[in-house]
Amino acid sequence: MVDDSRRELVDGFGRVHRDLRISVTDRCNFRCTYCMPEEGMVWQPREELLTFEEIERVARVLVERHGFESIRLTGGEPTVRAHLPVLVAKLAALGVDLALTTNGATLAAVADDLAAAGLGRINISLDSLRRDRFEALTRRDELDRVLAGIDAAVAAGLDPVKLNVVMIRGVNDDEAVDFATFGRERGVTVRFIEFMPLDAGQGWSGGQVVSQAEIVGAIDAVYPLEPVPRGSQPAERFRYRDGGGPGGGAEVGVIPSVTEPFCGSCDRIRLTADGQVRNCLFAVDELDLRAVLRSGGSDEDLSRVLEQAVRAKWAGHAIGQVHFIRPHRSMSQIGG
Ligand code: SAM
Ligand code: SF4
Repeated sequence: MVDDSRRELVDGFGRVHRDLRISVTDRCNFRCTYCMPEEGMVWQPREELLTFEEIERVARVLVERHGFESIRLTGGEPTVRAHLPVLVAKLAALGVDLALTTNGATLAAVADDLAAAGLGRINISLDSLRRDRFEALTRRDELDRVLAGIDAAVAAGLDPVKLNVVMIRGVNDDEAVDFATFGRERGVTVRFIEFMPLDAGQGWSGGQVVSQAEIVGAIDAVYPLEPVPRGSQPAERFRYRDGGGPGGGAEVGVIPSVTEPFCGSCDRIRLTADGQVRNCLFAVDELDLRAVLRSGGSDEDLSRVLEQAVRAKWAGHAIGQVHFIRPHRSMSQIGG
């Protein structure tokens, strides 16, 4: 008999899905201007958040029944969820490539526990190396804590440690070379992310997007670069022709989500902290997995909802086009 409980999640465009993003909380200890308003965020009630057991169950179904290979934890700020290493250990036991995206502010305290629990890779978000600018961007004076967090992640053996830098015109677009220097010296890969229309304040405009060409051009003028073949990852990668800096940082990347989207090879789905499945960051519809989990649904019931979500996936987002619809939830609520 054929075991049809094991099947790949393939959408209408032939894309096979193997990557899960899990938001573990919508809360955050920062208030980045491009993500959250200073005040007035309404948090999801705690009882609506999936428990670790519920998250593990969804992940297990995706790994065991649908061949998922990688999981990234995000938020909100994932490290503000209590006992995060407990969840990391549960997911690491599934044998997946497990990663975390964090603002880094609490990493000095938790990096060792996360590594011991089985976390592999880490991305730390940092948008300015200048204290006053960092404070204006995050509305927190915590640059030193983030820098200590980066060192703690490297020391804990998390590998690779990558920095995510959102470039915004007129805000931090003069820091590309400073970040390249920082990455070369500290042995971390810097990845520049184009600003996307997912800010809670709805202040995004196309003119604020700093393109890949501009970023790479600025760095290449100081540290000559050559492209690395792209593969299935969203980042366009470039290596330093001189081999990299004293700390070993040998590469820089750009995620051109707006100017050159990677939708054609997208293999991701997302689980929000309140248990909704989204087939795209920019999806306007969500399907309610929490309701299935909490009404005694079987693994097959979960699979059906996941398949339905993937089948409904669009070819890609349409930022900048007239028919683009902004999702009703912002980045921190979806899970970036
Ligand atoms: N709090 C964690 C952090 O900041 O790394 C994880 C969640 S955060 C929403 C995930 C990533 O999304 C961060 O790298 C952040 O810089 C990025 N991000 C947030 N709002 C964005 C926007 N409007 N455009 C592009 N990237 C954004
Ligand atoms: Fe918090 Fe991350 Fe959003 Fe900044 S980008 S407010 S750190 S969730």
